[in-house]
Amino acid sequence: MIPLEEARARVLAAARPVGVEWLALPEALDRVLAQDLLARHDQPPAAVSAMDGYAVRAADTEPPGRWLRLVGEARAGGPPAPAVGPGEAVRIFTGAPLPEGADAVAIQENAETADGRVRFTRPALPGEFVRPAGLDFRAGTVGLAAGCVLDPRKLALAAALGHAWLPVRRKPRVAILSTGDELVWPGEPVTPGRVASSNGIGLRALVRRLGGEPLDLGIAADTPEGLARALDRLGAIDLLVTSGGASVGEYDLVRAALAGRGLELDFWTVAMRPGKPLIFGRLGEVPVLGVPGNPVSALVCGLVFVRALLLAMLGLPPELPVRLLPCARELPANDRRADHLRARFVERDGRLLVEPAERQDSSMLATLAAADALVLRPPFAPPAPAGTAVPCVPLEEALRLS
Ligand code: AMP
Ligand code: MG
Repeated sequence: MIPLEEARARVLAAARPVGVEWLALPEALDRVLAQDLLARHDQPPAAVSAMDGYAVRAADTEPPGRWLRLVGEARAGGPPAPAVGPGEAVRIFTGAPLPEGADAVAIQENAETADGRVRFTRPALPGEFVRPAGLDFRAGTVGLAAGCVLDPRKLALAAALGHAWLPVRRKPRVAILSTGDELVWPGEPVTPGRVASSNGIGLRALVRRLGGEPLDLGIAADTPEGLARALDRLGAIDLLVTSGGASVGEYDLVRAALAGRGLELDFWTVAMRPGKPLIFGRLGEVPVLGVPGNPVSALVCGLVFVRALLLAMLGLPPELPVRLLPCARELPANDRRADHLRARFVERDGRLLVEPAERQDSSMLATLAAADALVLRPPFAPPAPAGTAVPCVPLEEALRLS
């Protein structure tokens, strides 16, 4: 049995960044940018009006009420407007380039027009209502840094920077195999002795949320032949995750089946709860993670290890998000296994606390689904009275790329 931190380090050492593919802008949503994206122009490329009004020489609007001659019009996307000479003004609309000679925009709310002339109730200030060239960004500067996740805001910025195609990390392909003679497909009747297979669907969803492409290898029987047949279906993948059959029971055959395929075993059993019987190794270049079958163990191992591998493959920091919150209840001393307690956020007297569920059985998936966080209890943590600040992993945040 190895410490959790060592297990994480060994798993991460096996992660290789995946390659780069180029996608058209709309396809790149939620993908990880693989190279810095430079601005291809100044934005705006030239000074433009920020309002509807009149392009003027600010000095000419003094004193208020002085008439200026209207010499033309400037609108966004329109023909070039004439220059503004002394005593002149150009009608201008938002987004239009500021004509030569003008240094301010006087807004139309303060204007009065008559006979091709315009005057203002208050003077314009130099630069007023003008967006200078490069206000948003400058040509050649980094607009988006490699490693950012392309959410709607960043995707819009990529378009504004002048790019139609984006280099993104390829999605890591993750094959997921569930094992167990007792498993039935979700939706099939669950009679005594049967269990609906939830690990496959949960792990595949986790992989998809975290930027990977899950491949379902289905359910294998607890026989050497059943497992061998399933392993025959491995295609070109970046990671194999199996669930179940990782323990020491007589029907826990996954390690042996993987060994038959040439698994180079790195470790088996980690000092953590849930999730002690965890297999890790490599089939050739491909990391292989065998998580335990208990539904909470499978998903917690998914959060702790599959997430770290995926993020590292995508070139992102693999650490789990951790926040310190006061614990709503007293916690006993911990043993040698790093514990992950399903817990909920509760508000008491305006303070946010974290409250671990009373019962932490690793078969209880409903408690995990209802949890807001996992409270982390390091090995040999001393007893903690209620109110002690404890580290916890916010699950919503841990289950998305950001
Ligand atoms: P195992 O790790 O194979 O010994 O399984 C431990 C427990 O997890 C057993 O009660 C199994 O029925 C259950 N289990 C195994 N695989 C799954 C699965 N895919 N979905 C839900 N429960 C499972
Ligand atoms: Mg089993």
